[in-house]
Amino acid sequence: MTIANPRSAIRFPEFDYQQRYWMIIDGEQVQAADGQTYRCVDPFEDAEWGYVPVAGASDVDRAVRSARAAFPAWAKTSPFARLELFRRWAQLIREHSSELARLQVHENGKTISEMNMVPGALAQSAEFCANYALTLHGETVTPIMPGHTAWTERVPIGVVAAIAPWNNPLGLLQWKLFGALASGNTVVVKPSEVTPVSTIRLIELALEAGFPPGVVNVVTGAGATGAALVEHPGIDKVAFTGSTATGRSIAQAIAPRLIRATLELGGKGANIVFEDADLDRAAEGVLTGIIAGTGQACNAGSRILIQSSVRDEVLARLENLMSQVVIGDPLEPTTQIGPLASRPQYKKVTGYFDIADGEEDTSLIVGGRCGTDVPGVTGGLFVEPSLYATPDRASRLRREEIFGPVGSVIIFDTEDEAVEIANDTEFGLVGGLWTRDLDRARRVSRQIDTGVVWINTWRAFSPNVPFGGRKVSGLGHEMGLDIFEEYTEPKAYWHGPDNS
Ligand code: NAD
Repeated sequence: MTIANPRSAIRFPEFDYQQRYWMIIDGEQVQAADGQTYRCVDPFEDAEWGYVPVAGASDVDRAVRSARAAFPAWAKTSPFARLELFRRWAQLIREHSSELARLQVHENGKTISEMNMVPGALAQSAEFCANYALTLHGETVTPIMPGHTAWTERVPIGVVAAIAPWNNPLGLLQWKLFGALASGNTVVVKPSEVTPVSTIRLIELALEAGFPPGVVNVVTGAGATGAALVEHPGIDKVAFTGSTATGRSIAQAIAPRLIRATLELGGKGANIVFEDADLDRAAEGVLTGIIAGTGQACNAGSRILIQSSVRDEVLARLENLMSQVVIGDPLEPTTQIGPLASRPQYKKVTGYFDIADGEEDTSLIVGGRCGTDVPGVTGGLFVEPSLYATPDRASRLRREEIFGPVGSVIIFDTEDEAVEIANDTEFGLVGGLWTRDLDRARRVSRQIDTGVVWINTWRAFSPNVPFGGRKVSGLGHEMGLDIFEEYTEPKAYWHGPDNS
């Protein structure tokens, strides 16, 4: 085994840093046709590891053709037979949970405490989707035309392109993959270029579980590979999670073909603390909203709205909590904040510190250090959890998705003002509020224009509860009891009157 970095040998003794990883097309491990590869980078070690294929248009074409060829048989496979495969897959995911969690930490520097929860959740989601697919059914309808009978069945859409981001590679992919496969679609997965290997392993486990060749394929590479997939005429639906900018370009690319899309995009969640809240719990929830995933979360509560009467009490709690946050090696179980996932992301987030310096009304409340200035770290792409007061509505820190542990604090006086500020954004993914007043909880939550509203909690998820954004945060939903609306469509059949 060759180790590129001696420090790495201690952290990931199980991985060969020179390993060549393979895409999966038609049930086989393949390299790119032109042999091109790139390297992953562990953001804590700042060390390269692995060689991953860069799929070109011909590789994408091969993957889509394979999914196309596998579709008719998979669509006809009984959901009971599919359930058996999903059960085996879920079992393998559980058996490989440590490997899958550690791979994700290696790829994107997220904390092991967070990534350890992902494989179990994946297995549950897989089982939920495959079990729930047993209930898929059509309807018999009495139509307006005399003597006729009509009925429907729900049919799969076809070949789904599942494109995922790097911030939670498997967690976000599952929301597409399992629903699509369980309801009879075939899939070509394109993971983020930052986090390809954990996805390759997940799909290898699907093959090991017995999924037929071509039913689920994975091509690796960056935006050009994703674009080639989206533009391929053999794709019937795009299920995408990523930035609003990429979501828009995908929507434009597929518009001429009018194919379906689920677009899960950016967010700028408002986390509202009312004066009647349990302030200790609220402060904990605000902290979670800012630091979970090192702030690299679409569901971040990155706008913190605090009622003026409790401003000082809440900020004192937050400063105290933030001073205790453990920053460091994401493989340490006690670490709460690891490095940012990549150097471009680090540049983007720290760029907001400079933007804040240039904004007249924006001022630092706590944090604001990065790199080796962060106490207790010796290197790496670290950013301290930070809060800025942003009274100016035009502040870029207040309006833009930073995607790091940086929160924008906004003070309000009245409930109406809180709602108005919460909705004063182009995004509409998640929002939340902290209050002990049930009437207020119901009233305000109804008025917050987001796909998800959390009341006295933050970041609660379940496979049977839908997740999706409004406004520029996206189109369509993932998970929930409507999941198959996204991956099947009703087909209507008519039977004319008989001659009697
Ligand atoms: P990104 O848009 O840069 O990339 C996402 C994926 O799209 C990657 O696999 C990338 O290679 C691919 N891609 C890039 N250009 C493409 C193109 N032209 N055509 C097809 N595919 C292309 O996003 P990111 O930086 O990886 O992820 C961060 C973003 O994801 C944030 O904006 C975040 O809010 C969003 N996100 C949203 C949700 C949600 O559920 N709404 C969840 C997590 C992350």
